Amino acid sequence: MTTISNNVQDTKNRIRQAVRACGRHDGEVRLLAVSKTWPADAVREAWRAGQRAFGENYVQEAVTKITALNDLDLEWHFIGPLQSNKTREVAEHFAWVHSIDRLRIAERLSAQRPADLPDLQICLQINVSGEDTKSGIPPDEAAALAQAVMKLPRLHLRGLMCIPEPSDDPDVLRTRFRQLRELRDQLNANISGGRLDVLSMGMSDDFELAIREGSTLVRMGTAIFGSRTSTHTL
Ligand SMILES: *Cc1c(COP(=O)(O)O)cnc(C)c1O
Repeated sequence: MTTISNNVQDTKNRIRQAVRACGRHDGEVRLLAVSKTWPADAVREAWRAGQRAFGENYVQEAVTKITALNDLDLEWHFIGPLQSNKTREVAEHFAWVHSIDRLRIAERLSAQRPADLPDLQICLQINVSGEDTKSGIPPDEAAALAQAVMKLPRLHLRGLMCIPEPSDDPDVLRTRFRQLRELRDQLNANISGGRLDVLSMGMSDDFELAIREGSTLVRMGTAIFGSRTSTHTL
């Protein structure tokens, strides 16, 4: 087995252990393999190991890879910051967008979604740490944005996503993840016309904490493909 296929199996096992350790059920947490900066061949190896869902942050890099791999049955998730001049490419090439934090971007994606593709699956990115610099909307703006996104014809609002500020303190991270879950539950209680089932939270270093707090989708790059600081080329 290659390193990548070993890593895919190891990562799935670690997720399964974390799920069971907190009394949840196998299959409640999906693995999104974050392939940003890694070449198409690396994605192909992960696919051979059974992985189907991949996450990308940079539109141009992603579209090149998606085109090169269009012989495979892959599900692509856009998880990075999205500018309005890139929405068309995202609407045409991705199944999911996790990083919606402005209505204007959502409106463009809905208008530009090709008629022959299923609705685009959407998560709102929430700034749970309250940092000025991070993308994501403040929690108290989530209800209004959720209601507006639900009205857009070609989008299907699925849930919430967060990237907490880095911290060595697991309690801080758990609190952030818990905030996202509580916000999701609040929205489900207060908004009619939709049910948010997805919590996109947890990365290679903190996915166990996120799973304990209710994550349904972990986004993991380093654990599968290795460290992005090592030199590798596209
Ligand atoms: C890069 C990235 C990840 C993966 O991070 P790792 O620490 O390599 O697992 C997850 N989510 C987002 C939004 C990212 O940009």
